[in-house]
Amino acid sequence: MSNLKTFFGESVKNTDHEVYSIIKKEMKRMEEGLEMIPSENVVSFAVINALGSVFTNKYSEGYAGKRYYGGNEHVDEVERLAIERAKKLFGVPHANVQPYSGSPANMAVYFAVCKPGDTVLGMNLPDGGHLTHGWKVNFSATFYKGVGYHVKPDGYIDIEEVRKLALEHKPKLIWVGATAYVREFPFEELSKIADEVGAYLAADIAHISGLVIGGAHKSPAPFAHVITTTTHKTLRGPRGAMIMVTKKGLEKDPELADKIDKAVFPGLQGGPHDHQTAAIAVALGEAMKPEFTDYAHQIVKNSRALGKALMDREIKIVTNGTDNHMILIDLTAFGKGKGVFVQEALDLANITLNKNTIPADPGSAFYPSGVRLGTPAITTRGLKEKEMEFVGDAIARVIKEVCTKYSLPDDKAQIKETLAKFREEIKHNAVVHQVKKEVMEFCEGFPLYTKLDY
Ligand SMILES: *Cc1c(COP(=O)(O)O)cnc(C)c1O
Repeated sequence: MSNLKTFFGESVKNTDHEVYSIIKKEMKRMEEGLEMIPSENVVSFAVINALGSVFTNKYSEGYAGKRYYGGNEHVDEVERLAIERAKKLFGVPHANVQPYSGSPANMAVYFAVCKPGDTVLGMNLPDGGHLTHGWKVNFSATFYKGVGYHVKPDGYIDIEEVRKLALEHKPKLIWVGATAYVREFPFEELSKIADEVGAYLAADIAHISGLVIGGAHKSPAPFAHVITTTTHKTLRGPRGAMIMVTKKGLEKDPELADKIDKAVFPGLQGGPHDHQTAAIAVALGEAMKPEFTDYAHQIVKNSRALGKALMDREIKIVTNGTDNHMILIDLTAFGKGKGVFVQEALDLANITLNKNTIPADPGSAFYPSGVRLGTPAITTRGLKEKEMEFVGDAIARVIKEVCTKYSLPDDKAQIKETLAKFREEIKHNAVVHQVKKEVMEFCEGFPLYTKLDY
């Protein structure tokens, strides 16, 4: 905590003790646990600094050189810098860095290329797709007609099915990208399908953009028309997003860049978050350094080593491996719907991850039979392959402990009662306590903020 204290929250400490004490608790939680939610990361002080800068005071509706308010010369400068860095890093001719976050960025793509009622084809949510790719409760299926493709029982995208659905439904837009997929995305294969039916192909690389920049995952730039990404996942920047138009996109539609910009503003948003833009510029600057390439490759090396450590302990993982930062643990060997027990028990042992559906899940969306975890945040903290033995062992011990002791009842009416009993008992579970103790000790060797630019 010591080096954190000297940086964070000094003025909050002096002016608002209530908020300060909450921030301090959150810092302690992060320091003492292993953050394994694959969409999370630990940003540098420089990113936090830019995010906490005076740019938060500014209004700057419009784009560089075309603002509705005065006083925007420095906002223009920082936004242009972010755009130039994004274009260079991803090898694209156009970038928009204003979307507030990943979901609004995807919404802007719809707004730019679809009319309400048009059909869109995306990966089905329980198969790993994102809500915004046409899932029923999301705007993307209420304003558009969402058709979902699936993964095969082996966990790989069913490319034959994508083609069949594309030919049948003639979508205007096809999404490739996911929140829970552990293999390389078949950008090239899906681009052929999109070309065949005349659809736009949007690659949503929210999770893997850091890997793409670092050369640890194939780039969608030669294949997709549009690329969207969050900036806060493997890219290790502030919460935010970018939309990029590729050379291929401009060839299909020379007005595409303009349509995207207009969709973001004035289509969907008002003033951009300039402090966020400044922090995105900083994160992109960091991603240009050679160390970032090492980081991206280390994420994947760690993820593979962790997968192996789990499999060595008879824990099954989807596709028996991973190509990226993520692992999906298949708990069906222990029965169905075990994800909830594992997530909650590991939370008590200071390892944070989330329950997730797996291919052909025998459980339900709310009580799935898998958990999803990833290595971006722990890799930032400095963990390497050899530490994955410890992490894998800790996770495997808790899994075996809870999955052999607890099951969801078949009678839905009894679920609440079963979970209440589990939650009471697990607080006093000896294995969970032991793992928590070991994790806390282990974390002392990997402080959150020493590896970066402090
Ligand atoms: C995280 C994610 C998003 C959405 O990002 P938010 O910033 O949470 O809105 C969109 N698409 C994919 C594939 C994601 O993983």
